[in-house]
Amino acid sequence: MKSSHAEQKKLLDLQNIDSGLARVAHRERSLPEIAEHIQVSGERTALSARLAAESGVLEDAKTELGRLESDAAVVDARIARDTDRVTHSSSVKDVTALESELESLYRRKNNLEDMELVVMERVEQAESQLASTQLLDDELQAKLADVAERRSTALDALAQERAHLSAERGLLEDSVATDLLALYEKLRTRGGTGAALFRAGTCGACTITLTGNELQKVRAAEIDEVLQCPECSAIMVRTEESGLW
Ligand SMILES: [Zn+2]
Repeated sequence: MKSSHAEQKKLLDLQNIDSGLARVAHRERSLPEIAEHIQVSGERTALSARLAAESGVLEDAKTELGRLESDAAVVDARIARDTDRVTHSSSVKDVTALESELESLYRRKNNLEDMELVVMERVEQAESQLASTQLLDDELQAKLADVAERRSTALDALAQERAHLSAERGLLEDSVATDLLALYEKLRTRGGTGAALFRAGTCGACTITLTGNELQKVRAAEIDEVLQCPECSAIMVRTEESGLW
């Protein structure tokens, strides 16, 4: 293929832009904020499970306390009723039976009160545990919002850089001959580098140094001949820096 020297040299600028675009894409994929966001999200997920478990423990303790309190209310009502009957009863036999029942009701009341104290302590412990976990969750939530913001700022900056490079590329692309551009694109899609400066007998893409016949061919080639590296196929662009003239 033949193409003017000026056209060939444009490929170096094009490759420069394409390398810039590749760097932008790489930076996008490897942003530390992305890894950080995944990590903090994972921590929050784990903490959510802990929050759910701790809420469950608190709810269970509260339910148990409620049950004890309603049992105690029933016992209190019966104590009140029996006490009233004792006061108003004229039957010695009834009074004796009621007093015996009252005695057992007071024992039951004492037991329930002891149990209530134990369960109340459990409720308090569960509440304070849950509150401290909730605090951790709030912190993680704030951290996550911060990471997300930094991630989006970094991505915005990269998007701007990409837009700038793409615009530049669009202008340059239009000025390169179609067949030369097609060859460049084909090589670039395949190997990552479409064109590179040939300097000091070396291909700038794969850095192989040509010797003997191969170097001779390059030296002898017309300036408008499009040369490709025998190793990586990249277009070897010759300029004043190439050391050939
Ligand atoms: Zn090469």
